[in-house]
Amino acid sequence: MKIKNIFSPNYSKRKRKLSNSIKFIIIHYTGMQSERESTKKLCNPSAKVSSHYLINQEGKVSRLVQDWHVAWHAGKSCWGRYKNLNENSIGVELVNKGHKFGYTNFKKKQISNLIKLCQIFIKKYKIKKKNILGHSDIAPLRKIDPGEKFPWKYLAKNKLGIWHDYESNFLKKYRKKKFLTEQNRRKFFNNLNKIGYCFAVKNKSFFVKTIKAFQRHFRKELIDGILDRECFMIAQNLTKKL
Ligand SMILES: [Zn+2]
Repeated sequence: MKIKNIFSPNYSKRKRKLSNSIKFIIIHYTGMQSERESTKKLCNPSAKVSSHYLINQEGKVSRLVQDWHVAWHAGKSCWGRYKNLNENSIGVELVNKGHKFGYTNFKKKQISNLIKLCQIFIKKYKIKKKNILGHSDIAPLRKIDPGEKFPWKYLAKNKLGIWHDYESNFLKKYRKKKFLTEQNRRKFFNNLNKIGYCFAVKNKSFFVKTIKAFQRHFRKELIDGILDRECFMIAQNLTKKL
């Protein structure tokens, strides 16, 4: 795969061990007006943000930070027992205007090259397929990228990330079906925990945002932050894939 090198100074100066420190791939969208603007920001020392790779809409891949450096892409984040995922991840930015400036479908070439790139990392660093995540998964309070247009199901078909076993026509019947006994609610959050979602602060807005992050990833047809039977079934099924 052809990779163009662009230098970003936005990384921690300490090198990390390549053999056992990279456990996750975190996917983002740039959320800016243009590719040019995004590259400029990711390389601007005063912005203090970066990612290891950037994939534009034609599928061209650029490397901004070397894998052995910790790039600053995830911010305050958590997944399972891992906190501050910059330390343990490769960050990949996909050029997309995002929710603020006109969120569009990701391009075919962009996704196929993302898949190729992920396959390289999986082989090189022995990353588990369940550890391919979106920024919103690991920082649900602050982030909504790569968003509901990101094709998680398609990635899972390529053995990247996890997906449930249900047909979408079957699942649809359970959408908006209220399912709120206290026991089910507890079971659902327990399952989310098993999948990796973190619950550090226990207030209502936190739960709503975490459910939305879950929906953006696994039930993109309706992102309302409300626990219904469809979400419950998906979460239950996903725990069998871990
Ligand atoms: Zn992001």
